[in-house]
Amino acid sequence: MNIKNHNFIFKLTFSYVFIILISFGSAYLFHAILPGLFIALGLAFLSSLLLTRDMTLKLHKFVRISDSFSKGDFSHKIFLDSKDELGELASTLNSMAQNLEDKIHEIEIKNQHLVAILESMVEGIIVVDKTSRIVSINSSVEKIFNISKQNLEGKVFLEVIRNNDIAEIINKVLKKGEFTSCELTLMWPVQKIFQINASPIFEKEEVSGCLLVIHDITEIRKLETMRRDFVANVSHELKTPLTSIKGFVETLLEGALEDKENNRHFLKIIQEHGERLNKLVDDLLSLSHLESKEILLEKGIFNLRQQVEKVIMGFKEQLKKRNVDIKNEIPANISINADKDKIEGVFTNLIDNAIKFNREKGVIRIYSQQEGDKIKSIVEDSGVGIPDKDIPRIFERFYRVDKARSRELGGTGLGLSIVKHIVELHGGTVGVESVEGLGSKFWFTLPNL
Ligand code: ADP
Repeated sequence: MNIKNHNFIFKLTFSYVFIILISFGSAYLFHAILPGLFIALGLAFLSSLLLTRDMTLKLHKFVRISDSFSKGDFSHKIFLDSKDELGELASTLNSMAQNLEDKIHEIEIKNQHLVAILESMVEGIIVVDKTSRIVSINSSVEKIFNISKQNLEGKVFLEVIRNNDIAEIINKVLKKGEFTSCELTLMWPVQKIFQINASPIFEKEEVSGCLLVIHDITEIRKLETMRRDFVANVSHELKTPLTSIKGFVETLLEGALEDKENNRHFLKIIQEHGERLNKLVDDLLSLSHLESKEILLEKGIFNLRQQVEKVIMGFKEQLKKRNVDIKNEIPANISINADKDKIEGVFTNLIDNAIKFNREKGVIRIYSQQEGDKIKSIVEDSGVGIPDKDIPRIFERFYRVDKARSRELGGTGLGLSIVKHIVELHGGTVGVESVEGLGSKFWFTLPNL
């Protein structure tokens, strides 16, 4: 309400009332002033009516726009051209609305950043309230538990993720208000190991929820197991020849040295074990070199058939001894761009195995095929073959179908893993097809020129 206008009406009305009172004193005056009095009262009533209407309209505007502010709609502002108290109130409301709009925008941006961070995290994130109902969940959780995060908010955790162990962790955190961490193995859809960190969320010093961070540590655990197995395998592989060498040296020292019939035989065994140790150390060194990131391939273009021929020459004695025939069927015109020495190593390992695990009068065929933009080389033998159950693990370090036979034949169990590393360093792949008792086909691909 405009106070100045009020004063004016009041003064006007008061003046006329005063005049009326004076007028009562004189009938003449009464007759003369009465019409003026009515006119003045009429005018006062009319102006007050107009002012009230104007005020009501302004107040309606205030109510309507304040209502849209309260609903978060700041697109309209209160425009009043008056410079009175109502005008001031309108501009205060407008600037308050502007501040609110800016703050809400700022919060929205921060919220978007937070969502982007949560969504890009590889760890699964779940937030539940104090009644174990889901408040928020990120996309990684979908992948971990094979669920869809659509419409999950508000649902009880156990209804969505049927895992009692995690539900128990949540209950513990909600009850005690303390950080809890544990390791969990999920068997489905595939076996995975997770590290679960659960922290309480506080609101006014009371536990209001729980934040779960789920790390997939399957690979870390796998690597740890592999490292443990590797150390155990290496120790075992070293121990066998070393024990034999030690035993035979002791036998010789205890008198067998003078035994003309056997001393050379004992020395021969020591030599063989020494060679095995040497081969094992060589293979371990090549493997660690291939696995180190510093390795550089010395690539060059060379003829594949000629290179294989050179490798075969080195096996002439062994082939003759085992009565195995070998055929190099690689076309004469195939050239590849690769590290010549390393590819020679691949063929050496594959041909060595094809001879070692072949049968008497067996055959070996070496041929190649063009496969898309790759050259596929195949070493096929007619040997003992590999049982189906062993095929998936055959390229693992120290994996051998028949340990005793492999050792007897001077194998270290590292040849195929060296082959795999070399081929993969070149951007190719390795594989095997085998039928137990009939033979095996070891193959690898290399990018074309
Ligand atoms: P090594 O030959 O030194 O034992 P490898 O890594 O070269 O080690 O081979 C691992 C195992 O794979 C061998 O012990 C053998 O059991 C199997 N294997 C490899 N090549 C053949 C083959 N051509 N035929 C049958 N078995 C094979």
